[in-house]
Amino acid sequence: MDGFPVKVTEAVCLGASLAISGICYYLYKKSRTTLDKLDDAPHFTIDGKLKDILKVTPGACLQYAVIEGAVRPVGEPLTSHFQKEIVGVLQKFLLREHRLVWNGFSRTWMDSERILHQRVNEVPFVLVGSDETMVRVLCPIQASGVHTEITHEKFHQVNYGLGDIVGQYLSGEKLKGQLETEEMLKVGTALTGIGEVILDTDGTLCLRPPPNGTQYFLSIADFDTLRGEQESMATGWKALTITFALVGAAVLLWVGRRYYYRLKVQWEQDHERREFERLRAEATRARALLTGPEASQDRVEEHIENACVICLSQPRNCILLDCGHVCCCHSCYQALPHRRCPICRQNISRVVPLYHV
Ligand SMILES: [Zn+2]
Ligand SMILES: [Zn+2]
Repeated sequence: MDGFPVKVTEAVCLGASLAISGICYYLYKKSRTTLDKLDDAPHFTIDGKLKDILKVTPGACLQYAVIEGAVRPVGEPLTSHFQKEIVGVLQKFLLREHRLVWNGFSRTWMDSERILHQRVNEVPFVLVGSDETMVRVLCPIQASGVHTEITHEKFHQVNYGLGDIVGQYLSGEKLKGQLETEEMLKVGTALTGIGEVILDTDGTLCLRPPPNGTQYFLSIADFDTLRGEQESMATGWKALTITFALVGAAVLLWVGRRYYYRLKVQWEQDHERREFERLRAEATRARALLTGPEASQDRVEEHIENACVICLSQPRNCILLDCGHVCCCHSCYQALPHRRCPICRQNISRVVPLYHV
């Protein structure tokens, strides 16, 4: 019996599904923790009272709080490169190249995208409440959540000649074109900010990323929408965790089932050999009673002449039934790949020991 019968593909499937399940579980736990923190976070309106609350809070700091206000630049705002009337405080410019790459495995052209150029501009800004109280927003680049709107999008298509088309089929790559986008966080946008709110020594209110690594959010959606998105993300990760864990369990069951059948065959063979040995011992005893112990010595030569047709060394010592052929030793019989007689190919239903009297 060789080692545990795991094939390479099964080991790869098992390893991959367990690893993916582990990663999905980690992401699920992470989004679940974020969701719990969002539920625990207090909501504040930006007004004079917020400053008073922070003055009496230890460390003048609210570790994780939700605030909402309108975006206003501290100095000069940024102007859109494409629509001069649009002004904002955060501007992302992106140039992406789109290609079709031939996938030999699925025999189709697959979309592939590559960032050619990326630029982010920002100016300091505040969130303004109803009574003109302001909260300075720090490190907006680090924030998660959708907080910019697309202000420009243009696809520059590539035109080909005949030579290019032939070249594409030879190289397996087609250039589709370049997508140019500009996104901006516009002045006046109602923004939800979730993070650490502090009262600085100079009396400014600030919103900044929590130092303990909790997720920092800036979003143009309201709090409930943002929470809903986080919740569906957590549910998605949970579903993926369960799916991949089930795939892993299925592979394990499959391997276990095969291992069980192998063991079963081995048990059956052991049982059969013991039974054969028992019958042979009985026969030898019976022969010794009838002919005396010296008779067995006379048979050595006959045994060699009568050698097993498979190993050519052991004497033929079993009768294969139902065909009745006496052609091999019991060890060779057990090593047969199929339970068929090596002489006539008939199925072997039973084996009994052969003995001469
Ligand atoms: Zn043999
Ligand atoms: Zn036979």
